Amino acid sequence: MHSMISFGFSLIFVLCSFATPAEQPQWGQTGHRAIGEIATDHLTNRARKQVEKLLNGHSLAYVSTFGDEIKSDKRYDKYYTWHYVNFPMGTRYEDSTKEQKGDIMTGMEHCISVLKDENASREDQIFHLKLLVHLIGDLHQPLHVGRAEDRGGNDIKVTWHYKKSNLHRVWDSEMIESWNMSYTELDENVRLLSKEQIRSIENGSLLDWMYDSRQLAERVYASASQDDKLGYRYSYDHLDTVMEQLHKAGIRLAKVLNEIYS
Ligand SMILES: [Zn+2]
Repeated sequence: MHSMISFGFSLIFVLCSFATPAEQPQWGQTGHRAIGEIATDHLTNRARKQVEKLLNGHSLAYVSTFGDEIKSDKRYDKYYTWHYVNFPMGTRYEDSTKEQKGDIMTGMEHCISVLKDENASREDQIFHLKLLVHLIGDLHQPLHVGRAEDRGGNDIKVTWHYKKSNLHRVWDSEMIESWNMSYTELDENVRLLSKEQIRSIENGSLLDWMYDSRQLAERVYASASQDDKLGYRYSYDHLDTVMEQLHKAGIRLAKVLNEIYS
């Protein structure tokens, strides 16, 4: 009897550890691809040609998930911390203790400098273009600019439509996946914006955009707490924000690429 019980417990333990993978891909694949697709709509002809040449026929959407695909490959461990930056609420990034291996800000800067470097090898340029597309996407997922103590919301356990999840994952992928639109449909359904609205989104630096996401992160943290049961109501309240973030990320990614290839 005793061994049956402990077998039962070990089985539960094993099942639980399968049910909660340690890390989830950021923005999910659909979100990242939508950002790539939206960015393509905003590229100048010159930038489009350069990007096409480097990506050998693949689209920005196609390469947008590359940053997550290499995460399980030990050879790329040094990029692991580049997907986010976490620092205490109410403090400034500039004053925060920096991650030694780099963070999303230094990661994006590094990619941009390689792409601007005429002496960089073609292979290096391709690698850093793919990574940049991914990182600018991640920058717009508010919980990639969150707090370290809950690992950007990963430790805020919630349920999503009665299934185990966490707040980070809800924002990465659950809301988008539940909506069940393809990345091309997401691209086709972004709000129509005036030239002025687009210009105001393009405005500012990478740092300004980081603070944009940071402000949103504060609202996201206030939107749910440990063990909350999230579902339709949460989507009603936040799906528009998700769409807006995908849109902003796409427009800003295009702006950065247009500048690199101007
Ligand atoms: Zn990522």
